[in-house]
Amino acid sequence: MQTFFESPLSSVLSRDYLTPKSFAHYKSFTLRNFRQIPQVNRLSSGQIEAIEVVGRVFPFKTNSYVVNELIDWENVPDDPIFILNFPQKDMLKPDQYEAIANLLKRKADKEEIDQAAMKIRWELNPHPAGQENNIPSHNGLKLKGSQHKYRETILFFPSHGQTCHAYCTFCFRWPQFVGMNDIKFAMRETRLLVSYIQDHPEITDLIFTGGDPMVMSTKLFATYINPILKANIRHLKTIRIGTKALGYWPYRFLTDDDSEELLDLLNKITRSGKHLSIMAHFNHPREMEPEAVKNAIRRIREIGAEIRTQSPLLKHINDQPELWSKMWQAQVELGCIPYYMFVVRDTGTHHYFGVTLEEAWNIFRKSYQKVSGLARTVRGPSMSAHPGKIQVLGISEINGEKVFVLQFLQGRNPDWVGKPFFARYDKNAKWVSDLQPAFKDDHFFYEENH
Ligand SMILES: *Cc1c(COP(=O)(O)O)cnc(C)c1O
Ligand code: SF4
Repeated sequence: MQTFFESPLSSVLSRDYLTPKSFAHYKSFTLRNFRQIPQVNRLSSGQIEAIEVVGRVFPFKTNSYVVNELIDWENVPDDPIFILNFPQKDMLKPDQYEAIANLLKRKADKEEIDQAAMKIRWELNPHPAGQENNIPSHNGLKLKGSQHKYRETILFFPSHGQTCHAYCTFCFRWPQFVGMNDIKFAMRETRLLVSYIQDHPEITDLIFTGGDPMVMSTKLFATYINPILKANIRHLKTIRIGTKALGYWPYRFLTDDDSEELLDLLNKITRSGKHLSIMAHFNHPREMEPEAVKNAIRRIREIGAEIRTQSPLLKHINDQPELWSKMWQAQVELGCIPYYMFVVRDTGTHHYFGVTLEEAWNIFRKSYQKVSGLARTVRGPSMSAHPGKIQVLGISEINGEKVFVLQFLQGRNPDWVGKPFFARYDKNAKWVSDLQPAFKDDHFFYEENH
């Protein structure tokens, strides 16, 4: 059999490794129409009620690819991809669940249900890590759709990329998908962004994020990319695109109406001499299996881009070392570079998905031990917190005191990076805010400037 790599790009679409078109038709399912999914008939009435109830509070969206090619319906309700997209009863606290369930039972009107849902959302820490504090300004104008937190990197949230091909039930960006608009980042204008980057020679990396920027049509995405390339900013070395399209809709790079144009546009970035890194979000080794994702990865790599992978560690979905080592190994085989393992943030469904820092460290090191050096490019477990990205290096004992050893992978102050520091061991700690400084210190070293 001839391999993909021997065939020129132009012949790619005619070849039989493309999955049948019948699967390649994108259809999304939300609260409004999920009952049309044939497999939903397998769910119990309790499970359907849970979707109806929890889906009022959190965003719910899945799609034809996830339903037909990723979820193993024989394994529902425990199937990890099912849990990744479909609301589960325990994602709300019991009193919250009852409140919404009762309103639905007595057929309350939409307004009343929406009000109750909004009240619950505010109980669920919708603004973790003070993200609204990192908005840069330029000549007195706020760049509302961006965040410049770490010296070398600027995040950009294109206003047209504020949705995803499906919604992850753990997503920390959930408030922006349910209309809590005050924290929705949106910036239509690339002009301001370009001149901000021009004025900041320390910026080497521009990161497109969302939602998912790959939900945009190629034509729209080009209106962001072209002005940036045209400005020809020397110190801007890398463009990154944070996306879950490889996990949720790999046909974005294969058979969508404008897939060819999308690959051409991405190719234009690499041809301009800038590095293009697709920051691919994968949560489970299952997502690496379909032919479609393998082919999409090959096509992206063929145009000279690299794919780096990242995921949070999630109870009920991937809290077993074997899953991570299997996922990283599969990624390396496909030419992807494992990059970050995150600790899930303390927002929304955190009580359902969260694991303790001790468990996170154990899962990380056990999976890290099982792979060769090529997969050990991954770093974690890492908390994206207000002061920076904090890695749990491990648990140790110093002078008889059991401690967490931590370090910054990224810091608001670059000088904080790479200096090990210590916190008192706490069996139940799940986030940096649960930690106390070790020994006789009354604050962490990075808190001195406050
Ligand atoms: C993670 C992150 C980045 C990118 O950091 P790298 O370590 O370079 O991948 C940039 N900005 C913010 C706000 C981040 O959380
Ligand atoms: S794809 Fe990313 S932004 Fe979209 S719901 Fe999932 S984690 Fe959130």
